[in-house]
Amino acid sequence: MKKIIMYATLDVEVPFIKQWAKDHQVEIKMVEERLTPETVGWAKGFDGIDIQQTHPLDPSIYPTLKSFGIKQITARMVGYDFIDLKLARENGLQVTNVPAYSPRAIAEMGLTQALRLVRKLGYYDQRMSKLDFRWTGLESTEIYNLTVGVIGAGHIGGASAQMYSALGAKVIAVDPVHHAEMEPFLTYTDLDTVLTQSDIVTIHTPLNDETANMLDAAAFKKMKKTAYLINMARGGLVVTNDLIKALQEGEIAGAALDTLADEAQFFEKQAAPEEIPEDYKVLKAMPNVLISPHSAFYTDTAMKNIVEMGLDDVLLILNGKRPNYPVFE
Ligand code: NAD
Repeated sequence: MKKIIMYATLDVEVPFIKQWAKDHQVEIKMVEERLTPETVGWAKGFDGIDIQQTHPLDPSIYPTLKSFGIKQITARMVGYDFIDLKLARENGLQVTNVPAYSPRAIAEMGLTQALRLVRKLGYYDQRMSKLDFRWTGLESTEIYNLTVGVIGAGHIGGASAQMYSALGAKVIAVDPVHHAEMEPFLTYTDLDTVLTQSDIVTIHTPLNDETANMLDAAAFKKMKKTAYLINMARGGLVVTNDLIKALQEGEIAGAALDTLADEAQFFEKQAAPEEIPEDYKVLKAMPNVLISPHSAFYTDTAMKNIVEMGLDDVLLILNGKRPNYPVFE
């Protein structure tokens, strides 16, 4: 029976891991710790390894895994920048990731927040917390009358386009790569058209040198005063201070943010008040801004897929086959 060790397992993953192990007749050891020079020794005697982390792997780990006869590292997550691919190659370690575990999870969160913004629910919440049950001044619109602009129609942007389109909205998109299968759901155009014509602008590009700070003061000025920004992608795509100014000056109507550029300081933990940056506090106080803690991915389907897609690739490699998601050939 093949043996796989999984590092940094979460409680929510355990039932899916146990089921996969049973279905595939593989022995799996789960440990909560991440892969470090202190914990790498636990991999001795195992055939495969499956990890999840963001801290760069210590360089000593690669030759140690090689000395144990291990031939792969599977990152059960999208990002693998914490793995030194050169060292992995040099030590005969094939690397795989899970590039798209549930695009719909993130797309559904974006849609949910967009609908909350459109229906002005943040304003209603604010009023009702003061026992003010009047609706005066909070007339909203209906989604099928709106134009939704998708920036980056890949896995998540594409799923978003399909959902908005199913609700009857007009969907336009900007993406340097056009996918014929998306054409029933959207019309490709350019960035300026997306910014100027959309009632909802939803951004789903990767964060890189080209896309960093893409939505700045100039972009917000182009948007409709009634438009909403949805950012479920990466905080660094947006110049947060420019967004705050645009919201304060009424250049756009609201925003839903699952990520903020400086979130690493405070997200994924119980933060102390002094760890909370000013931009978060200002945004959080606005009734037309919805913030979630980088949790758009966190659904049962996503967890199941992360576990199964990662382990499937470990087993393919152990059986001498090509994995589904190799990071390099
Ligand atoms: P993807 O690679 O499938 O799609 C990205 C798309 O953006 C591609 O089609 C690409 O051609 C396009 N693109 C690249 N540069 C562009 C530009 N300058 N202008 C317009 N389009 C451009 O990626 P994905 O899996 O859909 O992920 C999208 C984003 O969501 C990423 O930033 C990812 O980090 C983020 N994400 C967030 C969560 C969360 O929990 N909030 C979870 C997973 C992924």
